[in-house]
Amino acid sequence: MSGPGKLAPKLCDDFLNFDPNKTLPTARLLVDHSPPLGEGQYLSYKIGSCRHEYTTKHTQSILPALDSRPDATSKYKLAVVCKKCRLHAVVATDYAISTDPCLNSGNPQHHFRNLPDEGGSSATQIAYAWQCSASQCQAQLQITYRTPRLTDGDRDLLTNTERLKRRFDAVVEHNPSRDGLRQATPMEALSRLRKYIHDSLNPTHNRRAFPADNKRFMETFGVHGKECLPLLQRLGFKYDEAEPGFEWSLPNPEVINNRLTVDVNDERELLEDVEFELAALMFKIAIDTGAMNPSASEGWSDAKHDLERTLAAQGYQRHAPLRRVAPPNDLLPYFASLGALPDFADTLIEFAFDRQSECDPERKSYYFECLQEIAKNRGSEQLQTRVAMLHSENMVSRRDVSAAFRHLDIPSRLPHEKPITNEYILDCFQARQANSSAAVAEGNRDALYKIGISRQSQPLISA
Ligand SMILES: [Zn+2]
Ligand SMILES: [Zn+2]
Repeated sequence: MSGPGKLAPKLCDDFLNFDPNKTLPTARLLVDHSPPLGEGQYLSYKIGSCRHEYTTKHTQSILPALDSRPDATSKYKLAVVCKKCRLHAVVATDYAISTDPCLNSGNPQHHFRNLPDEGGSSATQIAYAWQCSASQCQAQLQITYRTPRLTDGDRDLLTNTERLKRRFDAVVEHNPSRDGLRQATPMEALSRLRKYIHDSLNPTHNRRAFPADNKRFMETFGVHGKECLPLLQRLGFKYDEAEPGFEWSLPNPEVINNRLTVDVNDERELLEDVEFELAALMFKIAIDTGAMNPSASEGWSDAKHDLERTLAAQGYQRHAPLRRVAPPNDLLPYFASLGALPDFADTLIEFAFDRQSECDPERKSYYFECLQEIAKNRGSEQLQTRVAMLHSENMVSRRDVSAAFRHLDIPSRLPHEKPITNEYILDCFQARQANSSAAVAEGNRDALYKIGISRQSQPLISA
């Protein structure tokens, strides 16, 4: 297997910026790699994508213990949901075939390469898989997205004020002498359903049945809850008309012993997801309408730190420039091509260059160009020393090679997609040499030498 990868912090960053609903199958920021600079569209956050606000679903997650080091038995799982688009995602790592997992002295970060054959999708889920390229680590990573549990139809059913008004009218008509009836607000409707779900998830909650003519219940879900019967039943609520007083009962999901092997259709996880989604919808209504949000104090903590811990990317070494200036935009594709972030310390940039060059040797001269340009921009002694060393080892960058082609006046493309063969290059060179002065001939030879090195062609090197 060969091909480029991404260091874990870069993958975290792409995960936060990637919206599977707003992407082309050919330009998936999370999974794909930008083409070399100048050869196509650089992949970045796409306008119109959700600026996700993920929070951790703690009951569904198994995070590494603080300061722990993984071993072959380690399996971690982070489950998150977005406050804005209610997209669910699971980030799962497995070290089953690791002998010496990253991070270790030789590997300051995981370097994940995508495994295109191991992903998959269904109507509600899409999964991507990676593996760390360090031979002693080979950590497996899978990221699975799941569509929201509540549909637009569900949301309308619960919060459309016209529908809530009709429900209220029907309840009054059903029992005109009943005191204290009020029309439910959208916030109340969501909050009441959320309270039922919260109770149902508590295994020690033992008042699981309630009368179907409960006032607040009917204001929210219609006479005896019948207007929302399909939704409530989908969530595991049960309605028994044979019971005296027409009883409803709460879902009673089984307790899950192993969150790593839980079934995708598990009832408890469904309810946990819906509880989060209702909270997300309540935040949205509060923002849109200014309504008081009764669950606001629960907050919506940022999952970023948990994400970094799951991928062992927390606290990586950062570049500390003397002057705080962001790198210019035209440098960003170079960082991305190395599978790196612009704030990586020089040491991590070198490591990223080494991993990409080893895993994707065909593009080594391009990765060298990335390193050269970053070294130049940072004015970093460490990176410039490395570039000089690579030069002395006969490394040539893509930029050097294109300059050499221009020097010899060889077009970068031939008509009819004819390949530029070594013989063709040699012919062009010899034609030029024939009528060049000694100084020009020397420059031509130098250019040919660089092309020869990049093509690993002995006839060109020694011409
Ligand atoms: Zn989102
Ligand atoms: Zn690794």
